[in-house]
Amino acid sequence: TPAAGALQPGLVVAAFGRHCLVESPDGTRRICHPRGKKNAVVVGDRVAWQATGDEGSIERVEPRRNLFYRQDEMRTKSFAANLDQILVLIAADPEFSERQLARSLIAAEAEGIPVLIVLNKSDLQPAFDQAWERLESYRRMGCEVLPLRLKGQTAAETERGLIELEQHLAGKTTLVLGPSGVGKSTLVNRLVPHAKALTGEISRALNSGKHTTTSTTWYWVDGTRSTALIDSPGFQEFGLNHIEPMQLAHFMPDLRATLGHCRFYNCTHLHEPGCAVRDQVMGVEDAGRASKEKSIGDNRYRIYGELFAELS
Ligand code: GDP
Ligand code: ZN
Repeated sequence: TPAAGALQPGLVVAAFGRHCLVESPDGTRRICHPRGKKNAVVVGDRVAWQATGDEGSIERVEPRRNLFYRQDEMRTKSFAANLDQILVLIAADPEFSERQLARSLIAAEAEGIPVLIVLNKSDLQPAFDQAWERLESYRRMGCEVLPLRLKGQTAAETERGLIELEQHLAGKTTLVLGPSGVGKSTLVNRLVPHAKALTGEISRALNSGKHTTTSTTWYWVDGTRSTALIDSPGFQEFGLNHIEPMQLAHFMPDLRATLGHCRFYNCTHLHEPGCAVRDQVMGVEDAGRASKEKSIGDNRYRIYGELFAELS
């Protein structure tokens, strides 16, 4: 046992306001509170803490590799750090929001991590094929899209999908995002069989039984403690307020490909003449690339315009 007052390393595995649960390298967990009002901690943070009786005080947050924000009603709040990738779970039904998908990709690009899109309910036809088609521009941008069938007739197909998915998760910390109804609980419970019990326990510990809202939670997927999922209940949308509107196109790979070809170096791509982005949207052939196919879809350009306005 380290001497009283000695700093110990830990990982934040759940956070609820200023109450959080910190896991030590030996797997034991303890409730801790960040010292100082400004010292916010989020799930995924590596911290140095010291014991104060049964609880602990977080004295330091180690430098973050990345930090993500969620947009709740009118508020933007940091909620997760040090991710390796983001898994966006969508389904053949309900129809996915391209706007939400685009936001996730921008948040990930801005922090330099990949997005894995998983399209669930492959048993539902023709909805599945239509959704797959709608993802074409994302595949073209280099996004990985995995089909999945968590329920339905053939167990073999479910297993195949899960095995492929697990290969993409192995050894990484993945934030799982999905609008309600896509099968997110089914997926998390498949990958982390004790998730439900664990969540209840954490909620009770951190809320002292006052309310039932669930915190953002870190789950180990296997016994080795190297593969992790982060689930953030109720999370729908990334907060992007930290991104400058003029940076936006850099974080949209299809738009980014044309940057440097606009007439004005500070082109907003909204109305300027000689804009290479708008040329692509309108399908104008560029002498250099002679592309007949538009490399930027109408939807993508509309989303760019909406986000540019939102961030301005
Ligand atoms: P959540 O709201 O995202 O957590 O979604 P749930 O895990 O509660 O699943 C929502 C509904 O979709 C449930 O009725 C599931 O049984 C159903 N569901 C999940 N996966 C599939 C699938 O692959 N195919 C079909 N047809 N239904 C599924
Ligand atoms: Zn332009």
